[in-house]
Amino acid sequence: MSDCIFCKIRDGEIPSDKVYEDDKVYVFRDINPKAQVHLLMIPREHIESLEGLTDVHDALLVHMMHLLPQLAREQGLDTGFRTIINTGKGGGQEVFHLHIHLLGGSGLPGF
Ligand code: AMP
Repeated sequence: MSDCIFCKIRDGEIPSDKVYEDDKVYVFRDINPKAQVHLLMIPREHIESLEGLTDVHDALLVHMMHLLPQLAREQGLDTGFRTIINTGKGGGQEVFHLHIHLLGGSGLPGF
């Protein structure tokens, strides 16, 4: 059994506020939002971080990148959005299942 919290969210073992899913990704609202809209996009496959990617993930990555602006539009983020990928402890990663933060709307902190 995986101890990964995002695998458990993907599998419905831990509740989440789901926004979107398909055969490759699962998208849900961050439990501690840093802006009006704060989504997390995870691949269904358990990949620890960007460090875990290989050539076999190329199509998955393109899929994720194309989905981000679509989801942002659906969330009403007509003027733009921010994406963040924290990688490793030194990069501030807390959950070791690759995820892309999608943030926007009021409350978006400066960078
Ligand atoms: P990171 O620091 O990039 O690993 O981000 C992990 C994110 O996961 C944080 O923004 C947390 O608020 C979020 N998070 C942790 N547990 C949950 C959960 N059960 N449901 C939704 N978001 C979560």
